[in-house]
Amino acid sequence: AYVNGLYTPLRDASVHIEDRGFQFADGVYEVCEIFGGKIIDETRHLARLKRSLSELGIRMPVEEGALKVILRETVRRNRVRNGLVYFQVTRGSARRDFVFPAADTPPTLVVIARPVDRAKVEAGAAAGISVITVPDNRWERVDIKTTGLLPNSLARQKAKLQGAREAWFFDEDGYVTEGAASNAWIVTKENTLVTRPAESGILRGITRTTLIDLAKRDNLIVSERPFTVAEAKAAREAFITAATAVITPVIRIDDIVLGDGKPGALAIKLRAHFHSVAEHSA
Ligand code: PLP
Repeated sequence: AYVNGLYTPLRDASVHIEDRGFQFADGVYEVCEIFGGKIIDETRHLARLKRSLSELGIRMPVEEGALKVILRETVRRNRVRNGLVYFQVTRGSARRDFVFPAADTPPTLVVIARPVDRAKVEAGAAAGISVITVPDNRWERVDIKTTGLLPNSLARQKAKLQGAREAWFFDEDGYVTEGAASNAWIVTKENTLVTRPAESGILRGITRTTLIDLAKRDNLIVSERPFTVAEAKAAREAFITAATAVITPVIRIDDIVLGDGKPGALAIKLRAHFHSVAEHSA
């Protein structure tokens, strides 16, 4: 792992107990997919990191060029060809106080890289996943990728206990916002891809943005509009997007099996083409 200027074995990596990430979830993070040794969509992930930091008034811990070097070095030291790189920035460590510490308090930066078993991941995606639906009880600033993920964790745990892989949040009007750690999509009978507008109630997923690029390239229609849980249950297909899931078909929502219970053909096709439009950074 990388922690504040040092590369260290993961078991020895630690931050101070008065780190504001630990005390207040006062930090933000990113997860990028590593595919064939390359970082996928790094430019967009770094742009979103900078936006999250600026919304919270946290400094970039190091310059962008240095951060890119640290990401590559962490990936290299862990010999990750296929996997994920996780990076987190907090407002730093300081005596516990709700008010921000002095402006010269150095932010904390940690980076971890982990391999994934690609064959296992592909087999999982080919089988499709089940999702449950839960009321969205998160704060209003879900557009910021903060480490304050307790509602997301509770929703995922509930999903797991019910034999599902993801939980979809829905708002007061019954419209799906997004998954606990993914964006939510459906495919209509007319083969239109539908996903909630990024302007309200969701994180603007990088995989979501790149999929919109792919859809345009393939002359598919994308409708950025809210959809209800009921519409999703009656949809031709459904799927999730996230750096950790790429595009993963949904085959069941609560106790409703979608279509014939098999992963949707369009979701499978888009998954197969995703890396041909995504950015690959060496
Ligand atoms: N929405 C939430 C709440 C998430 O936590 C994530 C990813 O972790 C996403 C959406 C998908 O974002 P991305 O495609 O950038 O991974």
